[in-house]
Amino acid sequence: MSTLEIKDLHVSIETEQGTKEILKGVSLTINTGETHAIMGPNGSGKSTLASTIAGHPRYTVTSGSITLDGDDVLEMSVDERARAGLFLAMQYPVEVPGVTMTNFLRTAKTAIDGEAPSLRHWTKDVKTAMADLKIDPAFANRNVNEGFSGGEKKRVEILQLELFKPKFAILDETDSGLDVDALKVVSEGVNRAQEKNCMGTLLITHYTRILRYIKPQFVHVFVDGKIAEQGGPELADRLEDEGYDRYLKVQA
Ligand code: ADP
Ligand code: MG
Ligand code: MG
Repeated sequence: MSTLEIKDLHVSIETEQGTKEILKGVSLTINTGETHAIMGPNGSGKSTLASTIAGHPRYTVTSGSITLDGDDVLEMSVDERARAGLFLAMQYPVEVPGVTMTNFLRTAKTAIDGEAPSLRHWTKDVKTAMADLKIDPAFANRNVNEGFSGGEKKRVEILQLELFKPKFAILDETDSGLDVDALKVVSEGVNRAQEKNCMGTLLITHYTRILRYIKPQFVHVFVDGKIAEQGGPELADRLEDEGYDRYLKVQA
């Protein structure tokens, strides 16, 4: 088992008005095999948490820690984070002109594993994963994300997740812009990666819709840069009925 541990994390950004603290002491522990949902109103800092785990240079950690099995994630480069087993969707370029999907996936897989995958297994794995995700085989020879629709990009994101076999996936608003069919296919992909590879998942979402297909054991409500409440799946059901008003009133 592996553990991703976030302890009392404080994160700031520089704005024209000066330094602004966005995360105000976030603590969260995720083990492989577990699914955690972070839910919260817009502007509460959810994407900031995802970007900080991803190593986005814009975000400065002023105190606290992120460790993976005790290793300091904050000391790692973005590539090192991927090699350590973290999957962070936004670390991959939106479009890569002149690089086909096939080449991109194999190059990335080689970088993450430290060795090239055996060609025979790899070709089969890619074919199977693409079929599972209902991705047209022709995509293999298209340039990365070039002219892909929003839904196609999400499927390709999950394709990477199935092929790279990370220990932990941080999925920020993976449900946004997907119709119900695409949402189902994408969710099934996440669930497969979870079952097959015992992946730990941090599912960040504003809406409860995706939680019909991906079932979290733990739900954390994010308000104003902090976890305001923690619970099980029943908390997501309550948020679906009541929204976030309750938390925002307390704040005001
Ligand atoms: P969420 O994902 O929950 O909607 P964000 O993490 O995107 O929240 O944003 C949290 C707060 O930090 C918001 O007030 C947002 O305006 C601010 N913020 C986040 N990133 C930046 C940035 N790069 N520049 C300026 N403000 C930012
Ligand atoms: Mg955020
Ligand atoms: Mg966000």
